[in-house]
Amino acid sequence: AAGLKLEELNWDHSFVRELPGDPRTDIISREVRRACYSKVSPSVEVDKPELVAWSDSVAKLLDIDPKDLTYAQCYGGHQFGTWAGQLGDGRAITLGEIVNSRGERWELQLKGAGKTPYSRFADGLAVLRSSIREFLCSEAMNGLGIPTTRALCIVTTGKNVSRDMFYDGNPKDEPGAIVCRVAQSFLRFGSYQIHASRGKEDLEIVRILADYTIRYHFPHLEKMEKSESLSFEVGQEGGSVVDLTSNKYAAWSVEVAERTASLVAGWQGVGFTHGVLNTDNMSILGLTIDFGPFGFLDAFDPSYTPNTTDLPGRRYCFANQPDIGLWNIAQFTTALMAANLISKDEANYTMERYGNKFMDEYQSIMTRKLGLPKYNKQLISKLLNNMAVDKVDYTNFFRVLSNIKADTTIPESDLLVPLKSVLLDIGKERKEAWTSWVQIYIQELASSGVPDDERKAAMNSVNPKYILRNYLCQSAIDTAEQGDYEEVRRLLKVMQNPYEEQPGMEKYARLPPAWAYRPGVCMLSCSS
Ligand code: AMP
Ligand code: MG
Ligand code: MG
Repeated sequence: AAGLKLEELNWDHSFVRELPGDPRTDIISREVRRACYSKVSPSVEVDKPELVAWSDSVAKLLDIDPKDLTYAQCYGGHQFGTWAGQLGDGRAITLGEIVNSRGERWELQLKGAGKTPYSRFADGLAVLRSSIREFLCSEAMNGLGIPTTRALCIVTTGKNVSRDMFYDGNPKDEPGAIVCRVAQSFLRFGSYQIHASRGKEDLEIVRILADYTIRYHFPHLEKMEKSESLSFEVGQEGGSVVDLTSNKYAAWSVEVAERTASLVAGWQGVGFTHGVLNTDNMSILGLTIDFGPFGFLDAFDPSYTPNTTDLPGRRYCFANQPDIGLWNIAQFTTALMAANLISKDEANYTMERYGNKFMDEYQSIMTRKLGLPKYNKQLISKLLNNMAVDKVDYTNFFRVLSNIKADTTIPESDLLVPLKSVLLDIGKERKEAWTSWVQIYIQELASSGVPDDERKAAMNSVNPKYILRNYLCQSAIDTAEQGDYEEVRRLLKVMQNPYEEQPGMEKYARLPPAWAYRPGVCMLSCSS
């Protein structure tokens, strides 16, 4: 129940909004004219912050109670398919929620801010390396149009943090950092599971938490009117009927499933592999959450997993994500059933809706990626198969695919010309396979009658030119560790508009250089 007063806390910035300010930020004493204030950034260095004193009477004035305000959430989860019990925010501390001028509620968390009751054996800290990855990828996902938690800033702590390097087993000191991350809610599947797992007396908490979630984050489900279109038959003929207007928890679980399905379809579209899809890393809002050992596909490989901890099982590899999403939804509905919030039929129906929604979204995304007039299963699976065989770069391939013209008179020997830059080192036999694919593809395009330039623009709006490849992250990390943050800032800017051509930024669309494949360089594991 901690923090229930938070909704009354309203931050505002009337002074900046209403009055003229001075844009110059240099610290040189001078006369400041036509401005009521100067923008500044705090430049004090914080090494080992400690609280010296606190005035309760001022806190009351501000409606804040520190005991209520900052907190770490309790949650559990299935890790790699096994129930892991209580996990919780081991290094994330919520500062509070801000309601903005549009009435949206945003929660602010500090990640890497020290131990909490959920830290278990770990230190509660984060290193600059993983903080940069979380910060950049949050914003890159948002740029791609995929739901995600956001990140406001990264601050280095000036302290070193020791991490075991899994590839050579030796501990290494790395600079520490804190990310301020932002989301409408950080609740996860595991937030409900933990209470359901504790049996009787905690089941009530599942309901209280579900009620809270629906009231604040799914308010439309509380006002649902009875309607025929929201009632569905489940199971074989003679099966029962699920009426989503008669049980808001069932309507909620369906919406969570559908949001999760759309999310995973979005990931598959851009080649994002999360790396640790444990149920504690599954957002109740269908956001991408917890950026650890994630990776975007370079060469297409369905079995790609960026997480060395996930080898050799590859539970969380690229191609498994849709199934894992369903498995996780099943754990979520099991928790709701345990708390008697939904029935078995409603749980089954939720999973059915996950499957349908995923297929709808995935097919529509792939159809748009190829610029096809309609979904064509055979054409798409043949393409993905070709791409896997020849290890074709997933991002760059779709980006140049839009250069193909819907012209059936192009001589066979010229068909692969537009794809030259992405079909590297392929032998004669593979050239034939690709040529025959392109022939069918062109026929399909020609049948649509959509002009080439129109199709190209539409394809480029769903096929990013720039994605946050692991080697790009690593370059930014290397310079940041030397105190130079320019590359982090540049990457942030490039990744905010991944679908646009950005003159001068072409190097950020390049394939990984040889150094990226050296052992240890881009190796990632769970929590760091
Ligand atoms: P993750 O694999 O990142 O989802 O983390 C799993 C669990 O470990 C969560 O409960 C995290 O809060 C916790 N955790 C991860 N890293 C740390 C850390 N450095 N200190 C404390 N807890 C951590
Ligand atoms: Mg996590
Ligand atoms: Mg994590």
